[in-house]
Amino acid sequence: LSSRQVTWLGLYTLGVFGVVMVLSSRRNPEHYPPGEEIVYFMMLCIMVAGVAILTVQLHRMRDRLRRQKVELEAALAHIHRLATHDDLTGLVNRRHMQELLENERMRLERSEQDWCVALIDLDHFKAVNDAHGHAIGDEVLRALSRHAHTLIRRTDVLARWGGEEFAVLLPRVRPDEARDHAERIRQRIAQKDDATLPGYTCSIGVACMAASDATIEQLARDADEALYSAKRGGRNCVQLSDHVILI
Ligand code: GH3
Ligand code: MG
Ligand code: MG
Repeated sequence: LSSRQVTWLGLYTLGVFGVVMVLSSRRNPEHYPPGEEIVYFMMLCIMVAGVAILTVQLHRMRDRLRRQKVELEAALAHIHRLATHDDLTGLVNRRHMQELLENERMRLERSEQDWCVALIDLDHFKAVNDAHGHAIGDEVLRALSRHAHTLIRRTDVLARWGGEEFAVLLPRVRPDEARDHAERIRQRIAQKDDATLPGYTCSIGVACMAASDATIEQLARDADEALYSAKRGGRNCVQLSDHVILI
């Protein structure tokens, strides 16, 4: 009950008792001597006031606990977001992406479905920083995150894998489909024209979960090797890992 309700209930209780006591001592003063009734009534006042104060305090305590619970839940959600997302871009961070990849591996372990990972690395990003400054470099990373988000499918997951490296989890795609998807992403990034930011290109390495016993570390290594092969191949291109056999 709220303090208001407790006060009214207390007054109501005392009122009813008071009326009954007055009527009783008037009708039967031998059994209910007025002096005794007044003493009883005063004791009753003290008890009701005590119970009311206790109830109000309990109500406030419960209120405070409820507020603290809401604050704790919000703090936990904030901590969870900090632990799983990247500050600069707001994307899923590498640690959380590794968990998502592991989940995908376990989910599809015994299924026939292929799934792939694309590693996107900005070309000559150090030169962008050197020429325009670190703040513009950061802005480019944010812009790329926003743009890349519009290029992936609803079921794909985009993560910041490292400094200027991004990873995309591509569920339910064959290696050739993943390569074509990555190629579309690469083209759209290279074509993007932003008046306020320097233009940039990226290289993409794609690897797929070919064998069911492959690990996420192996998959990431394959994607990394494919990426470096794309860099060696002249940059601004997509390379599919050698470990993937195209059907
Ligand atoms: P490559 O085409 O071979 O990938 O060349 P690169 O210059 O992109 O690669 P390199 O590994 O030499 O340099 C990566 C650069 O990315 C260096 C580093 O300063 C920059 N970088 C990494 N993280 C951030 C960041 O959060 N903000 C900014 N502005 N720059 C970053
Ligand atoms: Mg890099
Ligand atoms: Mg780079």
